[in-house]
Amino acid sequence: MPELPEVEITARLLSAALEGAVVDSARAPGLATMQTFKPPLDALAGATLTGVGRRGKMLLVGFAGGGLVTDEDPEGRATLLLHLMSAGRLQLFEKRATMKDRTARIVIRLTGGADGFDGERELRLKEFGTRQSAWGRLLRRADLEADERLRTLGPEAWPDPPDLSILPPRRTLRGALRDQRVVAGIGRRWADEVLWEARIAPLRRAGDLDDDERAALREAIRVRLDEAIVGYADTLKLPLKDKMPVPERVHGHAGEPCPRCGDTILAVHYESDEMAYCPTCQTGGKPYKDRRFSRLLKD
Ligand SMILES: [Zn+2]
Repeated sequence: MPELPEVEITARLLSAALEGAVVDSARAPGLATMQTFKPPLDALAGATLTGVGRRGKMLLVGFAGGGLVTDEDPEGRATLLLHLMSAGRLQLFEKRATMKDRTARIVIRLTGGADGFDGERELRLKEFGTRQSAWGRLLRRADLEADERLRTLGPEAWPDPPDLSILPPRRTLRGALRDQRVVAGIGRRWADEVLWEARIAPLRRAGDLDDDERAALREAIRVRLDEAIVGYADTLKLPLKDKMPVPERVHGHAGEPCPRCGDTILAVHYESDEMAYCPTCQTGGKPYKDRRFSRLLKD
């Protein structure tokens, strides 16, 4: 699942390549993917891509001109807001998607771009699996900030994480950190990583932390997301792989030794979620073994 670092890297690389590219055509083979109809996606034809940004775990692709121009909006500025959900990716291809490509959800054909590419490319929102949960909304600039998906986002987790006294006291730390209305950008992977970094038990109640622990957790968010983005982003190039390499230490590493203390990393499962932690570093040596704990992952 792409979280803040992966989405930030995607935005930077695509923006550097595609700024100034002109849209030839835009369509949505994923019938359920577009959640807005005005302006229609095909109004992007003739528009210039003005940049790719990020808010929380969402991508914002800016456009201006072309079919977006109206009497009320002579500059024709609009943003395609995209949420990749768990299995979506926004990637750039030099080959056209075939009609048979079942992963294509939104296809934007472009010419040119800031990287000097000479020819036609496709910016494609693709999604693995048969479920269509990734979504897009094409919003005029005047309507963007009022969109409830942006309006309800909490403060950005990076580059300057908020004071964590904002975490709802009765929620588990892992649940509160992943709630986009509380802090924007962190999901399962980075919640596990920052709690491990701060040596704090993931299922503690947010209100139980003392000031030092809250400060340590905030610093862990800053340090680990910095590590995953700053410097690292410069080592990656387009085309991005389906599974972007990320510097994980515990999430997805259950059964392996903790890189800090050597104890075995454990995991708690709930439905498709897997929470990884180190018992020595985080839970006073005690594993979460009771079924009660897996239910807490719902929070
Ligand atoms: Zn450890």
